[in-house]
Amino acid sequence: MPWTDALLRFQEIDLELQQINRRLTEIAARLHDESELSQARQRAEQTAQQARTAGKTQKDIEFELQRVQADLQQTEQRLYNGSVTNPRQLEDLQAKSQSLRRRIAKLEDDLLEAMVAREEADTDAEAAATHLQEVSARRATLCQALTAERDTLQTREQGLHQEAQHVQERIPPNILDTYHYLRSRTGGIPVARLNGEICGMCGVEVLKPTQRKVKNGEEAYCDGCRRLLVA
Ligand SMILES: [Zn+2]
Repeated sequence: MPWTDALLRFQEIDLELQQINRRLTEIAARLHDESELSQARQRAEQTAQQARTAGKTQKDIEFELQRVQADLQQTEQRLYNGSVTNPRQLEDLQAKSQSLRRRIAKLEDDLLEAMVAREEADTDAEAAATHLQEVSARRATLCQALTAERDTLQTREQGLHQEAQHVQERIPPNILDTYHYLRSRTGGIPVARLNGEICGMCGVEVLKPTQRKVKNGEEAYCDGCRRLLVA
């Protein structure tokens, strides 16, 4: 393999390695990013807690309602079973009974409201739980795919590093130094092919002496973009 071919191949490897590197960085970021999942989890926990609270509120009202209803029953028994005859006491019992009835009416309204709120909270909690399941499943599939892709890329990366070792042995050290020097100054593509008389990278027509050098397999640089030129 002439050094010019080796150089071109070295650049190809270099570019592919950069691409792999970018993708691996992307994959690492996506594997690390659990924001969607933790948001869904948080929402599920929050709505479950709200549903429990709404359930407890309803139970508390039901309990209180039963208690007041029992109280009313007792009060009315005493009021009507003839055991109390004192008019003052009867008046008190009457007043108590009316107060309890108002209290019951209020509790029944509250209970209705609490039941509606609990149903809404239950619906929200179920929806959030379903959403969490979906997000978890999607995330698991995604992580599996990303991990598999990462493994493939890492294997490919190792192979390319090995090949680069072999290939660069065929490149003269000063050319290799130039390659590394030009790399960051040429957008990562320091080598260009000469297509006829034209630089394959910048499109400039290269001077005759430069063309001759390229054809002879000598070190030559594009007159336009200063890249290493190879035939
Ligand atoms: Zn050029």
